[in-house]
Amino acid sequence: MEPNTFQLLRIELRALGKINKGEELSVSYVDFLNLSEERRKQLKKQYYFDCTCEHCTKGTKDDLLLAIKDGDDKPAENVVKEVVQFSKNTLEKIDKARAEGSYHEVVKLCRECLKRQEPVLADTNIYMLQILSIVSEVLSYLQMFEEAAENAKKMVDGYLKIYHPNNAQLGMSIMRAGVTHWHAGLIEVGHGMICKAFAILLITHGPTHPITKDLEAMRGQTEMELRMFQENEFVYYKMREAALSNKPFQVMEEPSNEIPSNIFHKKP
Ligand SMILES: [Zn+2]
Repeated sequence: MEPNTFQLLRIELRALGKINKGEELSVSYVDFLNLSEERRKQLKKQYYFDCTCEHCTKGTKDDLLLAIKDGDDKPAENVVKEVVQFSKNTLEKIDKARAEGSYHEVVKLCRECLKRQEPVLADTNIYMLQILSIVSEVLSYLQMFEEAAENAKKMVDGYLKIYHPNNAQLGMSIMRAGVTHWHAGLIEVGHGMICKAFAILLITHGPTHPITKDLEAMRGQTEMELRMFQENEFVYYKMREAALSNKPFQVMEEPSNEIPSNIFHKKP
């Protein structure tokens, strides 16, 4: 076998919902969180076909992905243009800073960009979601869990309006946001997110997938901690403090798509 070829032994396809007789089935090859024009370019380049699905031809969610703040103080067109350009420039600078491992610089760039975006762009805007995703991931890596959680929450709220409710990427994002809240000591929201992610992954990954199993264990652990928290908040925080101070802070892995390792919880 050539070194660059691979053999596909088994492939599992999972339906995200009920399929009606005669309904056309489609598979997502690229992340849906992109403008339809971008997705079609990507599909052409990587898979050599023109996508004719309803989403791509009609640009179904493009308006959401480009949405700006609505209401009385609707921003002027030139202001929106300026912020979008600023966001694109920032994303380029972030790429460079990340490649150099300057994670504090990445955080600084993201904070600056979010301050410009927040009064202008809607919560489903793709430029804001991209920054929120990067900043929450990098802040988690830097163990600044509270700020990471706050940004992850905004990201998930946006994703929930865009993705199909049983989308795998959505499930993975909610899982990461849940773990971040857990690490920040925000056990109520954290446990809720972990439960939600578990429900999605049961469908997208199936009950025997290792990530689903990890999630199930985390669901049990956070449920126990939540019960402790509800019974006695003071004791919960004292125990958490003790657990955190007894154990030297572990250095977390570089930001990646993996689940971050637990900082003070031991898996059962
Ligand atoms: Zn398509």
